[in-house]
Amino acid sequence: TFEWRLYWFAHTDTPESGLLWIEDATERQRVAAMRRDFVANVSHELRTPLTVLIGGLETLAERDFPLEPAQRSELIAQCEREAKRMLRLVRDLLQLAELESGAPPAFEWISVAALIDEAAELAWTLAPEGLTVTVALPEPLATAQLHGDEAELATALRNLVSNAVRYTPAPGRVTIGATAQGDALVLWVEDTGIGIPEEHLPRLTERFYRVDRARSRASGGTGLGLAIVQHVAERHGARLAITSEVGKGSCFRLDFPRPRWRVTTVAHNERNE
Ligand code: ADP
Repeated sequence: TFEWRLYWFAHTDTPESGLLWIEDATERQRVAAMRRDFVANVSHELRTPLTVLIGGLETLAERDFPLEPAQRSELIAQCEREAKRMLRLVRDLLQLAELESGAPPAFEWISVAALIDEAAELAWTLAPEGLTVTVALPEPLATAQLHGDEAELATALRNLVSNAVRYTPAPGRVTIGATAQGDALVLWVEDTGIGIPEEHLPRLTERFYRVDRARSRASGGTGLGLAIVQHVAERHGARLAITSEVGKGSCFRLDFPRPRWRVTTVAHNERNE
């Protein structure tokens, strides 16, 4: 919906002349609505694990009807899962708030190979049996460097890798790579997982947007991962592109145009210019 506001400021001396003021309130309303939605979502997302936790602790503390040892262990494990989910949610919320605070990224020249290695290491740690993790870094890019904020770029890749692992059932493959394409250096994470129906693609980077809420929850998702990736991309002048086919897999790519990247003859752990 669009909302326009018309104001007429008449001159006191000559009321037939004055100032006509037309204001487009659509954008302001859209931002206000988004903020309301976000607050409602955060309260819901925090309340759900808290309710499960409190209920679980009350049951464990119940003296009159003590639980069987197996039930007890299962309930303790469930409480732990929910507490960890809250911790991840709070961490992601803080990260988003920091990215939106307006503080500029700490730009420096960083090694693309080191970024990819770190992401691959995480994928190896997270991957269940039957999931293969591979790295695709062509030789000419072995000494490539990106001008970016190392912590932010590492977070973005971590989020993409954790998604790839969580949405790819075994047997499957997750590949992390870099490619030079025209003017751009592309960092990409590809998987052979469940894929994403096309109609969802434009909304994936919205905060708390999920294709399948139950699946995201079951895999420990917070619904904020891609919103964070999108922010990091924007702060680096990069573009996030997503392609996917249901049942075949997905590819998330970050395109960094020149002069954001370069290939050097310097050893890749030499970070300063
Ligand atoms: P979540 O914590 O729910 O994974 P994200 O913001 O990281 O939140 O991702 C948003 C949604 O995008 C996910 O809930 C999931 O539906 C979809 N998604 C993200 N990455 C993938 C992927 N690699 N394969 C399939 N679906 C994905």
